[in-house]
Amino acid sequence: MKIEESKSMETRSIAESKKTVAQAAPRVELPESMAVRDLAAVLGKSSIEVIKQLMRHGVMANINQIIDFETAASVSTSFGFEVVEKRKPKSRVAMQASRREKELLKGEGAEELQLRPPVVTILGHVDHGKTTLLDAIRRTNVTASEAGGITQHIGAYQVDVNGKKVTFLDTPGHEAFTAMRARGAQVTDIAVLVVAADDGVMPQTIEAIDHAKAAGVPIVVAVNKIDKPDAQPDRIKQQLVDHGLVIEEWGGEVICVLVSAKKGTGIPDLLENILVVAEVAELKANPNRSAVGTVIEAGMDKSKGPMATLLVKNGTLRPGEVVVVGETMGKVKALFDDRGKRLKEAGPATPVGILGLNQVPQAGDELLAVADEQEARRLLDLKLAAKQKAREAGKGVSLDNIFARINAGQMKEVGVILKADVQGSIQPIRDSLNKLSDEKVRVNVIHAGTGGITESDILLALASKAIVVGFNSRPEPGAKRLAELEGVDIRFYNIIYNLVDDMGKALKCVLEPTYAEVVEGHAEVRAVFGAGKSNKVAGSYIRDGKVSRSSGVRVMRGGKVVHEGRIASLKRFKEDVAEVATGFECGIGIEGFNDVQVSDILEFFRKERTS
Ligand code: GDP
Repeated sequence: MKIEESKSMETRSIAESKKTVAQAAPRVELPESMAVRDLAAVLGKSSIEVIKQLMRHGVMANINQIIDFETAASVSTSFGFEVVEKRKPKSRVAMQASRREKELLKGEGAEELQLRPPVVTILGHVDHGKTTLLDAIRRTNVTASEAGGITQHIGAYQVDVNGKKVTFLDTPGHEAFTAMRARGAQVTDIAVLVVAADDGVMPQTIEAIDHAKAAGVPIVVAVNKIDKPDAQPDRIKQQLVDHGLVIEEWGGEVICVLVSAKKGTGIPDLLENILVVAEVAELKANPNRSAVGTVIEAGMDKSKGPMATLLVKNGTLRPGEVVVVGETMGKVKALFDDRGKRLKEAGPATPVGILGLNQVPQAGDELLAVADEQEARRLLDLKLAAKQKAREAGKGVSLDNIFARINAGQMKEVGVILKADVQGSIQPIRDSLNKLSDEKVRVNVIHAGTGGITESDILLALASKAIVVGFNSRPEPGAKRLAELEGVDIRFYNIIYNLVDDMGKALKCVLEPTYAEVVEGHAEVRAVFGAGKSNKVAGSYIRDGKVSRSSGVRVMRGGKVVHEGRIASLKRFKEDVAEVATGFECGIGIEGFNDVQVSDILEFFRKERTS
């Protein structure tokens, strides 16, 4: 009892001392105006924390935005700082700068680039609530005027969050996400990872994390189903940390929001946090240019003809414009949104249905608005030619062509998708592969998992220019077909040593020095001497350059190379010599070649190291 008492007293005193420290509020001096980023630095907070606090004060700002003293002060105060205004005679440069900032704030003189809505994809394990969450978000943020419209599935929708727009792609899951990437179309800016609080991190959760990371897309975690009695959000957070996602409240950068898609709880919080990440990412586009977009979905409507939904990535699309989409073209007859409402224009990050194409394009195809039909046709011709070339070159990466690609500067990293039969094999393989890396080339295990090789593994390999390694793991039939079609290399092993050895060889070949050939000189064969079948000597005259005993030699006859090899002997008047210069005669024996003839030309060369 006594011990307990003294313990609790100790705790109290620590708590009190903490309080005293907190009471002496730290002071910050703030200028008349400053960028959000700088304020974060002054306060020792992350930009995300500052942006969030700004939002609570009703200010939507990105990290480069300039805020005035009052705004900065109120944010600082809420972080517990005492604020004083920095007063300093202003230099002319400073005055000019502040005028410029003000102009920027008013939007005058601002560049063509403007902030655009983020495009969000929802990823996660099956049954963790991705579809329910997409529906919930859509329901929560329908504005009154739109409520009357009938929801049309066009593959994406946009919601309004405190006056800012967020675009959601309607097809959840990393398969669709990576399939788009494999087609060269990365449209997603932010991935929302849904993890059910009653189930935890599952194989497809890990896959989703790896796919998002491979794409370099920031992740916001939505821990879902928190309404369930057996929900354990803290356990999920721990599991996420174990998989490299350190959440914000534990000192990391990943925002984690608790939601119930079924009950609608936490959705506004999730949306606000998506906006925070978007602000940090500073997603920009220029609405004042011709449109560039990506097809998200496409199909044939019996009465309306080819239809496609696309996401405008940059610029603005309007009815009447001529567009090239994938391998087809057309004149935009009508644009409509996800409620079937006709639109006069669609700006950056707007998902929009389009009518008027000649044929049905494919998901992932690129749209380009062009000046007229003539330009469209010219572009289409170019595209088809380029496609043919690409098909011939092969898109996938194989262990055999890694060497060429790295040397050509196309690759500095060898990506590996590793599938193994059991979890226990993954770490030793990963460790051994990591050991092969050096400062020139790195082996990067983009994704590792157990089970068969799936189509999504092949797509990830294609999108990330990686190879697939199966350790006691075989491809599913669909995956095998896809790999063959796309030229993705799958390697199979059942012994770790062989796997690592093969990869090592592929890399070593990369790291071996490269040599270039230098031609040293030429000689003309004027006579052939030689007793016996194997000891012919070419009596030669050095026409240019020189010949050395160590030179390589190429025998040329009628413009063709008939032999290439080494010099066996070099003599002048029966004396062995090291070198013979232009204008002199000599006898040259050629290793392994006994067919030298009069008037053959001998070319001498050496290899010089270039790296
Ligand atoms: P998906 O496979 O990830 O798209 O998952 P679904 O959205 O189809 O959801 C799978 C199941 O979980 C459905 O029965 C949903 O009703 C249920 N579900 C989704 N979200 C919640 C939630 O927040 N709470 C509860 N209790 N159930 C949910």
